[in-house]
Amino acid sequence: MILMKFAMIGAGAMGLRYGILLQEAGNDVTFIDTWQPHIDKIREQGGVYVSRDHKDRHLTKIKLETPESYNDDPDMLIFFTKQMQLAGFLERCSHFFNDKQYAFTCMNGMGHIEKLQQYFADDKIIAGTALIATVLNGPGDVDFMGKRGAGKMNMANLTEKPDEMTHRLFDELQKAQMNPTLTTNFKGTLMTKVIFNSVINTLCTLFEIQMGEFGNFEKAYDLGRQLIDEAYDICERAGITLVSTRDEEMTALDRNTRIDMPLHYPSMYQDMIHDRPTEVDYINGYIAELGREHHYEAHTHIFLTNLVHLSEYHRANEKKAKEAAK
Ligand code: NAD
Repeated sequence: MILMKFAMIGAGAMGLRYGILLQEAGNDVTFIDTWQPHIDKIREQGGVYVSRDHKDRHLTKIKLETPESYNDDPDMLIFFTKQMQLAGFLERCSHFFNDKQYAFTCMNGMGHIEKLQQYFADDKIIAGTALIATVLNGPGDVDFMGKRGAGKMNMANLTEKPDEMTHRLFDELQKAQMNPTLTTNFKGTLMTKVIFNSVINTLCTLFEIQMGEFGNFEKAYDLGRQLIDEAYDICERAGITLVSTRDEEMTALDRNTRIDMPLHYPSMYQDMIHDRPTEVDYINGYIAELGREHHYEAHTHIFLTNLVHLSEYHRANEKKAKEAAK
């Protein structure tokens, strides 16, 4: 029995992970992407190669369209683009949007909700956070990190009032073993993950290290605590109730880096080493901006945002110099 019709907007690492698991749970899933080498590879090999923790690499058939070729009416659109790609995807896909459809996303950072609100009513927007690590090895080749059922996620309605469709989505995510938790604190749920990422993603990316190497460093607590204290001070001023206390967030950082995912490089690192722009402006930069709105200078988050941009700038210069020397 076909349960729900989904369109995955963005068939990168996370779009493929959510979409393939929802498809395996019996749903009708179509993937929509714009990266031509990825699209060509999937068509050429007749699907996507899926591995789990670098093992059991096998071909999985998927339905793949571009924004322009897709013309169906899904119950739900699931957005998994990088923050800076979202506006372009929304514009190109808008021809198949209608006011009955729901938009769901577990993208990192903040800035995406306002963009979704330009196309969907507030009572049709559901967002969340995912503690689920996935790597796109290259076009048509994805690696789900962690054992089946090992990750977890939170989700909340923008209106903070779960409706029938929210519960249907929740049930499908549960069947797909994504371990969802439904909350009624929208901003607090999203910001708690932004703060988490502002430590791990950013520091592991800057030093090009695995999460375990950060977690095992003797000053990891001090580095994390400084960033967490600044961010929590800002959220208190902004009236945002986070879903963990400062101490719980520190414990989650420690457990996640040292025990749950010690060998993982965060998604920001994947962008940096592939010379793609990072999401830092939507993570540490967003925290700093929220601070400014509430008359608080988030010195450490501003400093880290600038350091990530310095690293991006350095890599771009290095690439240009290498090309010129060829
Ligand atoms: P991704 O980079 O794998 O894919 C996003 C889009 O970029 C897709 O359309 C993909 O086809 C395209 N793309 C990928 N590589 C490209 C390249 N080299 N050139 C041009 N286009 C390319 O992104 P993702 O990891 O799926 O992340 C989506 C969102 O989910 C982000 O907000 C991310 O921070 C968040 N997130 C990621 C993870 C993770 O482990 N990957 C975990 C939690 C949240």
